[in-house]
Amino acid sequence: MRTIDHWIDGKVVPGASGRTGKVWNPALGEQQAEVALASTDEVDAAVAAAKAALPKWRATGLSRRAEVMFRMRELVDANRKELATVVSSEHGKVLSDALGEVARGLENIEFACGLPALLKGGYTEQASTGVDVYSIRQPLGVVAGITPFNFPAMVPMWMFANAIACGNTFVLKPSEKDPSASMLIADLLAQAGLPAGVFNVVHGDKVAVDALLGHDDVAAVSFVGSTPIARYIYETGTKAGKRVQALGGAKNHMLVLPDADLDMAADAAINAGFGSAGERCMAISVVLAMDTVADELVAKIADRIPGIKMGPGDEPGNDMGPLITGEHRDAVAAYVGGAAAEGATVVVDGREGVPDTGFFLKPTLLDGVEPGMKAYDDEIFGPVLSVTRVSSYEEGLRLINDNQYGNGTAIFTRDGGAARRFQFDVEVGMVGVNVPIPVPVSYYSFGGWKASLFGDTHMYGPEGVNFYTRGKVVTSRWPDPATSAIDLGFPENR
Ligand code: NAD
Repeated sequence: MRTIDHWIDGKVVPGASGRTGKVWNPALGEQQAEVALASTDEVDAAVAAAKAALPKWRATGLSRRAEVMFRMRELVDANRKELATVVSSEHGKVLSDALGEVARGLENIEFACGLPALLKGGYTEQASTGVDVYSIRQPLGVVAGITPFNFPAMVPMWMFANAIACGNTFVLKPSEKDPSASMLIADLLAQAGLPAGVFNVVHGDKVAVDALLGHDDVAAVSFVGSTPIARYIYETGTKAGKRVQALGGAKNHMLVLPDADLDMAADAAINAGFGSAGERCMAISVVLAMDTVADELVAKIADRIPGIKMGPGDEPGNDMGPLITGEHRDAVAAYVGGAAAEGATVVVDGREGVPDTGFFLKPTLLDGVEPGMKAYDDEIFGPVLSVTRVSSYEEGLRLINDNQYGNGTAIFTRDGGAARRFQFDVEVGMVGVNVPIPVPVSYYSFGGWKASLFGDTHMYGPEGVNFYTRGKVVTSRWPDPATSAIDLGFPENR
């Protein structure tokens, strides 16, 4: 059985805890590898490597740090297919979807190439006679990233690119369900010229996470995952004095007004509901359909479902792969039966006709789903799209704002005024206008509101730079400089 080990201080380090986790091939339903689960000692070793690498990396010039990021950009670009194949084989998502994940992750590395410009501070000359004041941003130290299974390449890139370019050193604890992408990333970073110890990977479960949260040498923690764990990470990390950003789960609603292009809305609901088998924190899980167009919209969505080709992620032509584990598939399927028992209509039942092998569930469409039903209240995280009928814009808005989550949402309409009002009223962090998955580009920042985010800072983009740095303001007065030297060479930066 293939084993997946840690990456500490620039090399692969075999797991020594004696504990391992199973990595599945979700399309076959078979174990394909085992991953080392770190002990506290192994986490300590990774943090020690990051701490040892910190002084030199922090002191490395910005141009040189950016150069490493530029090289990493080229390497990820050249290895898109390899990364996507690794993601697809462990996660199960289809290759085209995994390629999209890599592309969106790569944007964050590209953003980090420009960090020298973003780290510029302010300068005030002559704040007082002979006194100047200026602001600088400095790295935090050793920072940790804890990531979910659903984007094993992109979410780590959301974090480490900015963290490292800002001068921090990094310890990644990826999801133990699909850990291999992080090892390929570590290898590419080493090829890009990143010094040993600046980026480390420890695989593991709660033991490793708790070791990071309790470690005195970890200055900050970035987390992406489910809401209960995000809350735990935030509370435990901040109590230990760390800076924490913890992104949680979601229940994203798409409000379809009667004037919307219903074909476009139906396409969007299909893509955002069933892409990646619904295992996206920005997936649409509830379509709020106005009564006057609901029948037509439900019919249009239902008509499109048979055209979705489900199968193994590495088989060309498939649109949707399996779910991550058999346990998760069963939990998602249980929501379908539960919704029917609670009075919803199962318009398309994805439990029917699934292959015997693998963790598959077909696209499922529920109608008449109401608050109070489990299928409405919980994050299902699978290919189950619910339709909730509403009689007015206000009712739709109220449902969205009453929801515990506030990650993403979208409105479908041709009315610019209605869209603008929605953008103003809605209590959600990322809003789409006729765009169902409004994941911000890398030069904005990603984050939800309410139970979708614990902490003050959104992830990546300008807020990511703020998260991974702290400000310092210098007030200075100088005697006239009396030193000078002759050097006719063209000044270099490195
Ligand atoms: P998860 O919360 O189960 O796991 C996330 C990470 O936390 C993993 O690294 C895991 O090993 C660790 N972990 C799990 N249980 C733990 C525990 N008891 N104590 C300490 N650490 C623990 O999430 P997941 O199933 O991997 O990912 C899916 C979830 O992530 C969904 O809820 C989804 O909405 C959310 N998500 C959110 C965003 C966002 O940006 N808001 C993005 C992607 C995924």
